Amino acid sequence: MESKEYHNGEITIVWKAHKCIHSGVCVKTLPQVYNPEERPWIKPENAASADIIKQVSNCPSGALSIKQDNDQ
Ligand code: SF4
Repeated sequence: MESKEYHNGEITIVWKAHKCIHSGVCVKTLPQVYNPEERPWIKPENAASADIIKQVSNCPSGALSIKQDNDQ
């Protein structure tokens, strides 16, 4: 299954398209990061990593997850 990754140098947002239920919670919470009208639709450089981590935990479907960029 397809998953896409978006990096900001500290963390990576992983988005699994097949799990996303398009609830829009992410877009409402951090519109500067999530904009389905643009490509890439996730721009993690536009918010603090701590705010992104908090928001990802509120994704109702589990489509979003976080990887630390320095975890190898
Ligand atoms: S909050 Fe999660 S399920 Fe809802 S649109 Fe964003 S990624 Fe998809």
